[in-house]
Amino acid sequence: MEIKKGIAASPGIAIAEAMILDCEDYRIPRRSIKPSQRMGEILRVRNAFKQAIGDLTELEAEQGKSDAGKIKDIFAVHLRFMRDRSLRKEITDRVYSQLVAAECAVSSVLRKLATHFTNVEDAYISERAADIYDIERRLLRHLLGHQREDVEHLSQEVVIVTRELSPTQTAGFDRNYIRGIATDAGGRTSHSAIVARSLAIPAVVALEDFSEAVRPGDTVIVDGNRGIVIVDPDEGTLEEYRKSLREFTVLEQKLDTLREKPAETRDGTRIVLLGNIEFPDESEMILQKGGDGIGLYRTEFLYLNRPTEPTEQEHYDAYAKTIQAFQARPVIIRTVDLGADKHTQSRRSLKEPNPFLGLRSIRYCLQHIRMFKVQLRAILRASALGHVKIMFPLVTNLQEIRQAKLILRDVMEDLDEESIAYDPRLEVGIMIETPAAALTAASLAQESSFFSIGTNDLIQYTLAVDRGNEHVSALYSAVEPAVIRLIRTIIQDAHRHGIDVSVCGEMASEPEYIMLLVGLGIRTLSMTPPMIPEIKQMIRSVTIEDCNIVARKVLGLATERQVNSFLRSTAREVIPEAI
Ligand code: PEP
Ligand code: MG
Repeated sequence: MEIKKGIAASPGIAIAEAMILDCEDYRIPRRSIKPSQRMGEILRVRNAFKQAIGDLTELEAEQGKSDAGKIKDIFAVHLRFMRDRSLRKEITDRVYSQLVAAECAVSSVLRKLATHFTNVEDAYISERAADIYDIERRLLRHLLGHQREDVEHLSQEVVIVTRELSPTQTAGFDRNYIRGIATDAGGRTSHSAIVARSLAIPAVVALEDFSEAVRPGDTVIVDGNRGIVIVDPDEGTLEEYRKSLREFTVLEQKLDTLREKPAETRDGTRIVLLGNIEFPDESEMILQKGGDGIGLYRTEFLYLNRPTEPTEQEHYDAYAKTIQAFQARPVIIRTVDLGADKHTQSRRSLKEPNPFLGLRSIRYCLQHIRMFKVQLRAILRASALGHVKIMFPLVTNLQEIRQAKLILRDVMEDLDEESIAYDPRLEVGIMIETPAAALTAASLAQESSFFSIGTNDLIQYTLAVDRGNEHVSALYSAVEPAVIRLIRTIIQDAHRHGIDVSVCGEMASEPEYIMLLVGLGIRTLSMTPPMIPEIKQMIRSVTIEDCNIVARKVLGLATERQVNSFLRSTAREVIPEAI
């Protein structure tokens, strides 16, 4: 039995067999060979091509039967690349002249080709880079002698163990069988943690080299409450955890009885509880858990795990069902937040030196207006079906809002000309997730109908701590005095200008921070859907005056440690069983 400590990223307990995921990009070491091994390696390249062509021919024939035109076309394109003799020759030449192993030659030739495609201006050609990466993975799978385990079609319950889940991997998950997640990298607001929480899957992150210490099929316990994982537990430990699992389920069922009750403080102030979603099918959980609407729809997930950008109709379909299900309840759709760690497949190879300070979010959209307009058109069309609001991410200055709104108006005019319906009164708000936006909130409020505070990014940019880097995760905290002061400024400026302000970062999903946020003036919280009942219970257990006292006390504390221990002990007094 081996116990490893990490960061508790999503609550709950999971017990299942480990499934080790390769990192998405196979890391291929440069393995040199002797001249006498050349022919053997060249033969390996040829065999890998033969097997890959065999797979693709079979897949193409299967798709032919089901008449799935588009997918069939993709396989046909891949087959054409694979049958191209000059490609194979370039790879075998590299083995011969540079004395490198087959997988190394395959990887370097295909990556060079993909980068070349990506840099071509023409969108059709640059998107072919994703095909080249797929071909590379297919060949490597044969060369490395094992089939990549398929997270999209699982048949038994597993704990996913990996270095870091990429957004693309989670976009394709078969969620019915994933019981727990354990990752080497990441922090509480890294992508894996957010996804795990929103899917109610227990997770522990920042486990350093855990994925190298576990073998596929090992029994793993993920204790997402205490932030530990246990490999090969002994019988006593297993029994203890099975008992905790039963107790946790009972607590959850108890909290679910709050569903129909309002999120109202003991002295009668209503707090609006919204949910954050990444995929349309998560929206149902918000209603099940008694939420009031969607406060953050992270639409970039529509772009991942697919070779091409979504069409206007695909966007519309992804929004329409949810909006209709929510009827008059608000659905805040955040325009695409691509860049940083979330890339379309065709742009994956474009490396930036500091991606979180690079071309991401609204900046990306303002440089890719054609793509931006496709999404805006779909959101506007969908706005005719219910109560939709638009939100722009990572704004840093007034010009960005003005520019984005100008483009939005352009799209509205197009729709007017075509007599296509949309909600002309649709509210347009922004996320406040940079210190620049927080410090100029008063001016940004003049161009925004509402603010939503994205604490995940606000913390990383304020404290200069990468939110996904396990080496500095101890420095990443929502309750550093600097962060609290910025949040207070944003709330005050929003109130002065009469606009709504909510919190949609992970801070709003943490029971111990709720009294502070309410005491600072927040009346709308948007959180990971499984946390709605617990946060509701917290709110129903306190008065506004209790919260004001907490906020005043916190503003007088000098260190993060003091704030944290004060908030934790206060929350424990309020709902001892949940914290
Ligand atoms: C945030 O930054 O707080 C946020 C909600 O956005 P994301 O986590 O998607 O970056
Ligand atoms: Mg953000």
